[in-house]
Amino acid sequence: MKYRSTRDPEANLLNFEDTLFTGLAPDGGLYIPEYVPSLELEEILSWKSLSFSELAFKIFRLFIDQSEMNDNDLKSILKTSFDTFSHVDVTPLKKIKSNLLMLELFWGPTFAFKDVALQCCGNFFEYFLKKKNLNLKPGEKKFEINVVCATSGDTGGAAIYGLRGKENVKCFVLFPKGRISTVQEAQMTSVPDANVFNISIEGTFDTCQEIVKNLFSKKEFKREFNLAAVNSINWCRILSQTVYYFYSFLKIYDSEEKTKIQYSVPTGNFGDILAGFYAKILGLPIYKLLVATNCNNILHKFFETGVYERPSTCLSSFSPAMDILASSNFERLLWYVERGNLKTLSKRELNNEKNCSLKISELMESFKACGKFGIDSDKFELTKELFRSSTTDDKTTLKTIEKYFKEYDYLVDPHTAVGLNALENLNYESEDGVISVCLSTAHPGKFPEAVLKSTGLEFEKFAPKVLVNAMTLEKRCHNIQNGGKSDGLLNEVEEYIRIKNRC
Ligand SMILES: *Cc1c(COP(=O)(O)O)cnc(C)c1O
Repeated sequence: MKYRSTRDPEANLLNFEDTLFTGLAPDGGLYIPEYVPSLELEEILSWKSLSFSELAFKIFRLFIDQSEMNDNDLKSILKTSFDTFSHVDVTPLKKIKSNLLMLELFWGPTFAFKDVALQCCGNFFEYFLKKKNLNLKPGEKKFEINVVCATSGDTGGAAIYGLRGKENVKCFVLFPKGRISTVQEAQMTSVPDANVFNISIEGTFDTCQEIVKNLFSKKEFKREFNLAAVNSINWCRILSQTVYYFYSFLKIYDSEEKTKIQYSVPTGNFGDILAGFYAKILGLPIYKLLVATNCNNILHKFFETGVYERPSTCLSSFSPAMDILASSNFERLLWYVERGNLKTLSKRELNNEKNCSLKISELMESFKACGKFGIDSDKFELTKELFRSSTTDDKTTLKTIEKYFKEYDYLVDPHTAVGLNALENLNYESEDGVISVCLSTAHPGKFPEAVLKSTGLEFEKFAPKVLVNAMTLEKRCHNIQNGGKSDGLLNEVEEYIRIKNRC
């Protein structure tokens, strides 16, 4: 399997390893597989008794050539990644009532779904770096990478726990000082490993993201320090996340009754739900995917109208991991939509693909220039075959946490509450024979403020012990302030990375 950029009309191909290290394509597009294999339902159903990591192997194998990695190595990477989860099922299902189940994705080291992908990414990085360094000639410099990422809370933690202690990798995480939850900050800054560097920035998440973007656009610097990214556009993250759609589906699906299963997905950058989309086009008969947004609802508006328009401001909500202006992964879905067919993807149609890439470039250019684009009505209809959407404000988020706690004795985090509310908004119980699965994207212990407000529960009473303990551990963090110059922050961060690579 090879990969190509959504914006490249020539469809130049990269292997999995280069796709992993490159992240964003040089033309600004996102990497997608050159084709999507199509699985027979019968084959999928034959995977029912596999463990999570065995199932992951079946799926990953389709997307990484043998020549890049043999079966044993791939199996061992996946097993190592998912062994860090503290539940035997890795992503267990929890029944709320007969037609509603929670898919708990928070049993990893940082209690958020991002662990599923970042544990894998960390181990893939390590594997390929080791391979690169295997045949060094005398005097030749070791190949090392510097992973740099900006976080509004969850990504940074998951990246740090995925990369801590890994050979040939340094991990720099930028977060906006005082703007992430104290639990998230404690989780990141209490990690003692020497290859982990937390940087707090005087500014907002956007300031952090801007700095990272600018660092990556400094070609010299990027090459000298082998900058690598683990943000949600990294293909390896999407691939890792497809596994739990298959896993949960196989646990629920009844082949006699041909159960209709729909997933509600708390959505920000569109990475998690995109994995569901790939599961669907691989052949998993998912009934519907619900795009559950908070008050930052650019995606909801798109799925209502076919127009994608950047709002003027990003609002702060109780579900901060979904506070986004525009969704970076959305471009991938758009590519398939513009291709005009969400089904037979296993065949390549080079001419059609070329037009499609040109169209994507045009749409994204338009978005960059005027913050807006629309798609044709036939293409828009296509999205409705699979997607539904909803938006939830803060007040309803808190009410939903309260409701599920009181009625079902089940405590959810504010992001998951947005997913549950989406199901209610879309009247999920009105269709007979449909089973709804709500993705539970974080443990409520990561967002104690919202839980306290809605239920009165104190952090220490419901948060995992490790999180409570993290609060009192020794912290390490480098604070960077703007020295008054416009490029001040960027230069300071650059200098800091230089220094840390010297010692
Ligand atoms: C990142 C995150 C989301 C949003 O996922 P996307 O892939 O960006 O759509 C939702 N909930 C939590 C808890 C998250 O950390």
